[in-house]
Amino acid sequence: MKFGYVSWLPETDFMARFVEELEKNKLMGTRCKGCGARYLPPRAHCRCGSVEMEWFEASRKGKILAYTLVTFPPESMSKNSPYIMAVAELEDGLRLLAQLTGVAVKNLKIGMSVRVTSHRTPESRVVYRFETS
Ligand SMILES: [Zn+2]
Repeated sequence: MKFGYVSWLPETDFMARFVEELEKNKLMGTRCKGCGARYLPPRAHCRCGSVEMEWFEASRKGKILAYTLVTFPPESMSKNSPYIMAVAELEDGLRLLAQLTGVAVKNLKIGMSVRVTSHRTPESRVVYRFETS
């Protein structure tokens, strides 16, 4: 699987679609056809038990709800340390956790506008991040 900094996820058609769209700078989530619950990152199964899911394109703009400076990262992220992780509420109401780049932690404020961007790591893997806009 070429998503993320390390291989946490199995290679499936489902994840391949997510990564393919991410490479085109599209952030795709899934919506349950049964109960309407939305998932971002996408999930193939809903918490209601349904597997009838459909894709939708999520907003890539949002505002910071919370953030933290990670100084003791997991091994896979140690070369990026310290780095900022943030939760943002996107314009469509979904919440997403991602690394935030391009801003010093002392300049960060709750409510600051961010956008979700996709990047290729030096190992040719695909990740999404927040950038301040
Ligand atoms: Zn459901």
